[in-house]
Amino acid sequence: MNICVMAGDGIGPEIVEQAVRVLRAPALGLTLSFTEALVGGAAYRAHGHPLPESTLSAAQASDAILFGAVGDFSLDTLPRELRPEQAILGLRKALNLFANFRPAMVYPELVDASSLKPEIVAGLDILIIRELTGDIYFGQPRGIRVRDDGVREGFDTMRYSEPEIERVAHVAFKAAKRRNNRLCSVDKANVLDTMQLWREVVISVSKQYPEVALSHQYVDNAAMQLLKNPKQFDVIVTGNMFGDILSDEASMLTGSIGMLPSASLNEHGFGLYEPIHGSAPDIAGKNIANPLATILSAAMMLRYTFANAAAADRIEAAVQMVLRQGVRTGDIAGPGVTAVGTRQMGDAVLAAL
Ligand code: NAD
Repeated sequence: MNICVMAGDGIGPEIVEQAVRVLRAPALGLTLSFTEALVGGAAYRAHGHPLPESTLSAAQASDAILFGAVGDFSLDTLPRELRPEQAILGLRKALNLFANFRPAMVYPELVDASSLKPEIVAGLDILIIRELTGDIYFGQPRGIRVRDDGVREGFDTMRYSEPEIERVAHVAFKAAKRRNNRLCSVDKANVLDTMQLWREVVISVSKQYPEVALSHQYVDNAAMQLLKNPKQFDVIVTGNMFGDILSDEASMLTGSIGMLPSASLNEHGFGLYEPIHGSAPDIAGKNIANPLATILSAAMMLRYTFANAAAADRIEAAVQMVLRQGVRTGDIAGPGVTAVGTRQMGDAVLAAL
């Protein structure tokens, strides 16, 4: 198991360090090799580019990437293609990471962190699978033009090919099989031709997964249902733009940005695993960031790239045990609770393992 470690900027190095300690835990008994590579602002400072050739080749030579976060406000004046965040887009494109997995779980101990009523979110455990390399974000033509009547107009193109829909549908049905055999496909087939094709193709792929119950929702309804009755969902699959919005909405159901992992996979199971939060420059270097989202991303890596569900389960159980023990970093500590530091949270997970 060759893991390319890209710690990145801000709190990235602190949180990734804890995830690597967990992966190395003797209790897990894994044989892993780690290669470190610079990415984002750190790479720009050393090599003049947020995704240097050396980083890309280190990624290509590995089986998975453990990614911290990128982003550095002092580099925001650089041309867009040199900004730290471009590294993620470059990795997605170069490695064809078309399926984005975003679980949203509410731990019983953190149910009060949600802005929704506890009875609506208690026990929530959903997985949103967002197509990541197509749709209106990449479709051509696009631009801003001046019409014949002199009025400026902006335009983008929503576009999905049948194979693009098929491959993400297969990923979603397989994920549903590993969970509770329920998949909801979210589209806008009532208005958009692209989404009509989306629905037809998902239905046709479903014939190969008779054990999975497939349902469909229009995106506007799905946005409402996520707030009204989120526990009706198990796995959701949707396109790039709808998934962008719905996965952020779903993450807020849990109320704790420092707890949520993600994975972006290609068809060979290669994946980039990262917390959903950014580089949090406001708290970088202070040993107060919550490392649990990154530790849970490492668990996803074991589950999805290395097919080691047992080890993934153990890490997730250790995180739950730590929460049950009342160990909290500042972002999830309620009033009156003494918070531990980043490293101490890592220690607690190791002890629980
Ligand atoms: P952010 O997610 O970095 O931070 C938002 C808020 O949440 C901050 O108050 C931060 O302190 C807090 N927070 C985030 N992660 C935390 C953790 N693990 N523990 C405790 N608190 C945590 O979002 P932002 O401030 O909008 O962006 C900061 C930088 O990160 C920007 O440069 C942005 O472009 C970048 N960014 C990167 C990624 C990524 O690498 N995938 C994602 C989002 C934003």
